[in-house]
Formats: sequence, C-alpha cells, structure tokens
Amino acid sequence: MQVPQQIIGQFGRKRLLISAIVAVLVLIFTLSFRFIEEKKRIEQQPRNFANHAIQRFDRLFSPLDIAANDALQLVGLHCADVHFPLIKKMATLQTIRAVLLVNNDQVYCSSIFGKRETIFSTTYPDLAVNHQRMMLSVDHDLLKGSPILLLWTPKSADNRSGILQIINIEMMNNYLLAPALPWVERAIFNVGGKSLEFGNPLIEKATPAEDEVSYEKSSQHYPFTITLFGPAATHMALMTLPSQLPLALLLSLLMGYIVWLATANRMSLSWQINYGLSAQEFMVYCQPLINTKSGDCDGIELLLRWYNPRQGWISPEVFIPLAERQNLIAPLTRFVMREAIRHLPLLPARPTFHIAINVAASHFRDHAITDDLQRLWWPANPLPQLIVELTERDALPVVDQRIISHLHQAGVKLAIDDFGTGHSSLSYLKTLSPDVLKIDKIFTAAIGTDAINATVTDMVISLAQQLNISLVAEGVETAEQANYLRARGVNTLQGYFYARPMPIGDFPAWLAQHQPKPYD
Ligand code: C2E
Ligand code: CA
Ligand code: CA
Repeated sequence: MQVPQQIIGQFGRKRLLISAIVAVLVLIFTLSFRFIEEKKRIEQQPRNFANHAIQRFDRLFSPLDIAANDALQLVGLHCADVHFPLIKKMATLQTIRAVLLVNNDQVYCSSIFGKRETIFSTTYPDLAVNHQRMMLSVDHDLLKGSPILLLWTPKSADNRSGILQIINIEMMNNYLLAPALPWVERAIFNVGGKSLEFGNPLIEKATPAEDEVSYEKSSQHYPFTITLFGPAATHMALMTLPSQLPLALLLSLLMGYIVWLATANRMSLSWQINYGLSAQEFMVYCQPLINTKSGDCDGIELLLRWYNPRQGWISPEVFIPLAERQNLIAPLTRFVMREAIRHLPLLPARPTFHIAINVAASHFRDHAITDDLQRLWWPANPLPQLIVELTERDALPVVDQRIISHLHQAGVKLAIDDFGTGHSSLSYLKTLSPDVLKIDKIFTAAIGTDAINATVTDMVISLAQQLNISLVAEGVETAEQANYLRARGVNTLQGYFYARPMPIGDFPAWLAQHQPKPYD
C-alpha cells in the first residue's frame, strides 16, 4: 500500500529525474554546439591562410607580367643592344633572378649572361610545346640545384618567341608560406604537377601524413595552387572540449536547477490534487449505513476516490492527510458536497435517511464549513439528514462552540470519526457534544479476538449509551461482529459485511436489491 511518504518520494524522484535529464541534455547540447562552432572556426583557418597566400603570390606575379609585356618589344633585337636595358628593367624587380629573351625558338639573350644559344623547345618543352605559362624547375646556371619558377610570356601565338622570367621562388616560398600552427602544418606551392614545400628546397610531390588532412585552392589569375596539410578539424575541435567542460557543466547545472525550481509546483502533490479536481479525476463513492433494529439501510457515508492516470488509484489514506497538510482539503470536501447534491435525486428523499460526509477539523476554522454549507448544501433543500464526520489526524483543535451550535440549529448531526484512536480523546465529548460516535474499525476487528481492544469497544459503547450518543461501528466484516454489536445496542453498522464502498451512482441499484440480513 502507498503511504504519503512514498507518493512524495515518487514526485521528488520524478522531479529529480526530469531536472537531471534537462541538465544532461543541456550539457550535451552545449558541448555539441561548442564543438561545431570550434570545428567551423578551425576549418576556416586553412581557408583564410590559402586565400591570403594566393593573393600575395598573385600580387607578386602581376608586376612581373607587366614588366614582361613591356619587354616583349625587345624580343628580336640584338642581345648586345638590349642587354643593358634588360638589366635595368629587371633590377627594379627584386624577385627576378634572370630574364631570357626567346626568338624563333632560340634562347638568345640572358639578363645575367648576355648572349646565349639554346633551343627553347628542347630546354623548356612544357612551356614551349604544352603552352604552359609557369613551370617549377631547378636552377642549372646560377645557384645550381636551387628551385626556381619560370614565367613564360609568349610574343607570338606559335609560342616560339617571348620573354622567360626566372623567379627566385624558394625565397618567396619561405616568406609567403610559413606554416600557421596548429591549423596549418605544411604549406605547398604547386605548378604543373610539381610542388615546392615550405622549408624544403626540393621540388617533389608532397603527400599528407596519415593523420593529416589536405586543403587545396587555386589562383584565379595564374596556373598555380596552394596545398595545405594539417590536423583534422574534428580532431582539433575534440581536443578543445575539455576546456569547454567547466562552463558547459555550470550551464547545465544552472538549467537543471531552474527546472528543479520550475517544477516545484507542477510536480507537487498539491498541484496534482488541484489538477485532479479540474481534470475530474476524483470520484465520490458511498458506503451504506445499516440500522441494526430494522436491518435497513438508513444512510450512506461519502468517501472520496482518486484515479490519477499518471499514478493509478491513490488511496484516501495517502492523499487525504497530504491534502489536509497542504490546505487542499476544503476544495475536496466542497467537491464531495457538490457531488452529493448532484446525486440527490437518486437517494431516498426522507429525513430519516442520512448522508455522512467527512470534514477535516481545519475546515471548521473561520466558519468555512458553515459558509460552504450555506452556499452549496442548503440551497438544494435536501431532505436527507446531513451528518458531518469530524476527523483530525493530528489533534482536534479547539472548535468554535458557535459553529457547533450553528450546525445543530441547522439540523446537521455531528459525528466524531475514529473514536478511540489517536487524538480523539474523551474531552471532545464535552466540548463538541457530538450526536454520533463512530467506533473505529480496529475495535470492530478486535471483537472475539483481542482482549484489550474488545474491552475498549465495550467501554465506548456503554459510555455513548450513558451520554445518549448514537453509535456507528465501522469495519464490520463478519456476522459475528454484527451480532455482537447489535446485541450491545449499537445503532448503526457499516462494513464490507453489508457492502463495500461503491460509486454513488451504483447505490440505487444496490438499495433496490438490499435485503435485511437475518441475525442469530
Ligand atoms: P473513515 O472515515 O474511517 O472511512 C472508513 C474507511 O474504512 C474507508 O476507507 C472504508 O472504505 C473503509 N472500510 C469500510 N468498511 C470496511 C471494512 O469492512 N473493513 C475494512 N478494513 N475497511 C472498511 P477509505 O475509503 O480508504 O477512506 C480512508 C479514510 O480517508 C477515511 O476513513 C477518511 O478518514 C478519509 N476520507 C475518505 N474520504 C474522505 C473525504 O471525502 N473527506 C475527508 N476529510 N476524509 C476522507
Ligand atoms: Ca468517516
Ligand atoms: Ca475510521
């Protein structure tokens, strides 16, 4: 069976679970978000690097182009005549190592060596035959073995005459392609299938290491590309995650805490009871009260039932004490009153029929019970007599005498529920002057078994009789108990022996087939 602590514990655990799930989701989301952002940022670094390098190379080559175009007019003139102007022109361009004039497939003049005699198409087939504009090569003349870049500017469409500029590419390379760690580990300049890498004077094809990824970008203006090798962005972004963890944890804990606070109301039993009232999860059941003289049913006690789709049936032993503590008992009692009134046409319409409702002692405070009766009960002009069963789990407070007399004047009977247990002490007999005492089911259960409790039962019975108070015995389950109580003059019996609590709507059918039970 559920106890209040279990229900509260369930709500608490659910709340904790939801808060924890939110916190974990926030943590995952924050880390994922930071990971994606970081990955994007890392991926952008080689792109920026390549764009920048290409721009700078393009800027380097464009004045060379202009100079070469200017020098095209010198092609065909005698080397002796053009050698000096050639030197002068090229002296302004620091990146140039040498300029060669080519006429009719003859390399016939060099800015460094003057007159030359080599065949252009044999020495530089890529430029002459394949119509390439650029070529990576190795210096054979001046600094033997050092890498050079050849820039070919043809004069004629047949590619047999033009200007060939020899560019000091290693210097440029070292200056323009210095790696940007940690994103760019290796930077490579490629022309026509040949590559020159930063820090490596050899012209060879570069391949990335196993854990490296490559990024390549080509120039829009010249036939070269830049290749970059570096660690995978995913890997690098993953490596940054530990440093993001403290902030992400803080954020997730904060969100979890906010959810914890925000669900305080929603996940509480008071919220559930309020919600249950509006969602019509509560039902009113009734249990017949049997007159021991006639054996007829001369009343019912109304008992609340709660079916909560989230938790199933919740026993009144669980939710009533909690509702009392949370000041939610009055709305529940009002619900019982409304339901009783709604079902009045189904109940026997005579003053000898009793309708008993359970009212918590706190409902007596500030005349709340009389106000509610005024508002809900009396306007319906019910013929059956109302019994208010007063229960208090902790201690019956000092109930205002005026309320008691008000109830009596209005013809309401007052019963003390669970008499003999807990705090229902003898002194209340005087202060409350009840019309009815309800003998608790533990005393009924003791009949024929437990000597002490059975004695208390007898004492309560004789006490009530001496004070002229009616008696109702609860929890009658056997014929033996019924006979015993009836023999001792208890007026009314209630228990599974006669009927279990039933939906109030089922009561007329039960009443129609009810036969007084024979007694010994
Ligand atoms: P109670 O007022 O003493 O109600 C009698 C309880 O005994 C009911 O339990 C009833 O189902 C149970 N009962 C009846 N006959 C027998 C029987 O033969 N054997 C046994 N073992 N039990 C029997 P229930 O309905 O679970 O209610 C428990 C308590 O919750 C009630 O005790 C009452 O104090 C409280 N309660 C129920 N409905 C309301 C309500 O509308 N307002 C208030 N304030 N309290 C209520
Ligand atoms: Ca009761
Ligand atoms: Ca009881």
